[in-house]
Amino acid sequence: MSKRISLVAHDTRKKDLVEWAVFNQKQLIEHELICTGSTGRLIREALGESAHITALKSGPLGGDQQMGALIADNKIDLLIFLWEPMEPQPHDVDVKALLRLSTVYNIPMACNLATADFLISSPLFDSDYEPKRRDYSDYLNRKL
Ligand code: PGA
Repeated sequence: MSKRISLVAHDTRKKDLVEWAVFNQKQLIEHELICTGSTGRLIREALGESAHITALKSGPLGGDQQMGALIADNKIDLLIFLWEPMEPQPHDVDVKALLRLSTVYNIPMACNLATADFLISSPLFDSDYEPKRRDYSDYLNRKL
């Protein structure tokens, strides 16, 4: 079951994400990888042309928001987002929005390597898993 996997890392976390992707290359190559721009460039260099990689805009230039839009359209199955907890980011609001939408749509999300390891070694990773969507109809039909 091919999954659409988002890979995003802040600059100080990119090396770890690339190493993780190389370590898990055999598994990842079976899936579609959707990355923010600079992360995508590094992942492509590391995994080579046989990997299915789509690079969006760079995160601070709108890539995080593009990723969020894909999540809202049910076009992402899983998010690995190594964000930097020790430094402020110029696009903090975009980062928060991406994390928020992943929660709204119940997307499996790893924000550190340990969770990424748990996700990729889960039997659900290579199976047909449909996350339960929360019912937002009360909100949508609220009296305005
Ligand atoms: P980048 O974006 O991959 O283009 O560096 C990452 C981010 O969202 O900050």
